[in-house]
This record gives sequence, C-alpha cells and structure tokens, in this order.
Amino acid sequence: MKFAIQSKEDVLSENVKKQMERYFQDFQIEMDEENPDIVVSIGGDGTLLQAFHRYQHRIKETAFVGVHTGHLGFYADWLSTEIDKLAEAIARNPFEIVEYPLLEVLIRYRDGEDSRFIALNECTIKSKGGTLVLDIQMKNKYFETFRGDGLCVSTPTGSTAYNKALGGAIIHPTIEAFQVTEMASINNRVFRTIGSPLILPKHHTCLIHPNGDTDFQITLDHLSLDEENIQSIQFRVADEKVRFVRFRPFPFWNRVRDAFVADDNRGI
Ligand code: NAP
Ligand code: MN
Repeated sequence: MKFAIQSKEDVLSENVKKQMERYFQDFQIEMDEENPDIVVSIGGDGTLLQAFHRYQHRIKETAFVGVHTGHLGFYADWLSTEIDKLAEAIARNPFEIVEYPLLEVLIRYRDGEDSRFIALNECTIKSKGGTLVLDIQMKNKYFETFRGDGLCVSTPTGSTAYNKALGGAIIHPTIEAFQVTEMASINNRVFRTIGSPLILPKHHTCLIHPNGDTDFQITLDHLSLDEENIQSIQFRVADEKVRFVRFRPFPFWNRVRDAFVADDNRGI
C-alpha cells in the first residue's frame, strides 16, 4: 500500500503534512507521489478537488481521505489534531472504501473532435459575454431553450457546493444521479425555462447545443477552461466512481448538519 500527501501549502497544512510524514515513517508506510493507492489531502475541500484531478488517471486504483486545516469540510472530515489516530488507522489496515458517483462531461467541437472530462463537484457553463443561449435536450428529446447566466451540473457530493448556492437540492451520495440548476434564467412572456432544479438518474443524458455563440467559459470543479467552437456538451453519470477511505463512520446527514445548520443545537 503506497501513499501520497496533497497539501494546501499554507503554513498549517505544511506542518500537518510534516507530522503525517513522520507518522508514516514510524509505521514504515511507503510513500509514492506518482502511483499512490491512498492520497491524504490536507487543507480543505478545494485541496481534495486538486488531489482528485491530479490523480484522475488512476481513479480506479486510488482512494482519498481528507484532513481539514480550516473549517469542517465535506471531503475533508478529519481534524488536523487527530492525525495520529488517522495514521494509526491507516497502519492497522484493512479499511472500508466507499464509492460515490461522478459526472461525465463530453464536449464535441465543430471540427468533429471531442474531449471527455470527469467532475467531482460540478461543471458550469457560462457565456464569455452576453446572455448564454442553449438548446437543452433531456434523454435525446428537446426540452427547452435556456437563456440566462449559466447552468450548473453537479454530482451528489457536489450538491452541497455551488449547486446549493443556486437553490439546488442536497442529494445523498449513494444516489447515482446528477442535478442541473439554472443561474439567473430569463423568464417572461416570451422566454420560458423550467425554473426548478432537475435531477436525472443514471443512464439519462442532458445534452446542450449552443444557440448562437459557440464559445463558452466552462468550469470543472476548481478548474476553468475557455472553450471555442462547441457543437454540443453531454452530461451523464460517469462509469467511474470516486473512492474514499472510511476509517470511521461520519454519516452524510451529520456532515450536512454540522456544516450548515449547527453543531451545538441538538433540538428537542
Ligand atoms: P473556494 O472558493 O474555496 O470554494 C468555495 C467553497 O466551497 C469553499 O468553502 C469550499 O470549501 C467549498 N466546497 C468545495 N466543495 C464542496 C462540497 N462538495 N460541499 C460543500 N462545500 C464545498 O474554491 P475551491 O476550494 O477551489 O472549490 C471549488 C468549488 O467552489 C467549486 O467546485 C464550486 O462548487 C465552489 N463554488 C461555489 C460557488 C458558490 O457557492 N457561489 C461559486 C463558485 C465555486 P473549502 O474552503 O474547504 O475549500
Ligand atoms: Mn477552497
């Protein structure tokens, strides 16, 4: 079993990384930056997104675990003061792996080329200027023409991120689905969109075609791409899954509550 550490690279995360490396030495745990089986991300959720994209080529072989050095995260759920326990749990072996769905994004260009991406949180589509106009197909049937600022297409684990800020639902990550939310759609007597977030199951596709401008600003998690001459973009639940190492239970709904509601109000 080989390990790698991805740090946010701030002072605290670097200190925690050094401590973690010392524990790994003590437990004679092998490190391998290139081909790790387990990646420990130290920082925040954003750090885990970076780790995910860095090791994407090994997605089937690599599992992730996140330590937070700031606030409680969705992907980073170990405290930096607990890394002795984490190192011990790692050394003890074996551990449980949980798998969550990812989003597949297939971009077709007008010259016939295509590119395939996967996102852990979401993909957003925005125009490079002016109103974004898109024809949207759901499961190969015309659904609507969208006019507005943009679209956000998110995974279940990404549903607590950008998606939530857009009024999307929080989806439990055992549900294999993806969610489409609107950013400021134009709705009046002439133009109409559904207005509600849509949740699509596995094997359903959402396909968008530009209606007018074919250049978009596309984000994949923390990454931003300027894409030109786009023919279409297809979204679906990816065949690959992201793997997290689970050393102790931390139910998703507890995480949602601790992050967004309160961790002191136990209610009645
Ligand atoms: P960032 O600006 O630090 O991210 C914004 C916030 O989203 C941070 O607090 C981040 O946590 C948190 N976050 C990331 N993934 C999350 C998840 N799955 N559930 C709940 N919170 C999550 O930038 P970043 O760290 O590179 O993260 C990129 C992500 O930011 C994007 O994937 C997108 O989801 C999100 N974003 C949100 C908005 C918005 O809410 N209006 C706008 C743009 C982007 P950490 O501080 O622990 O990193
Ligand atoms: Mn961040």
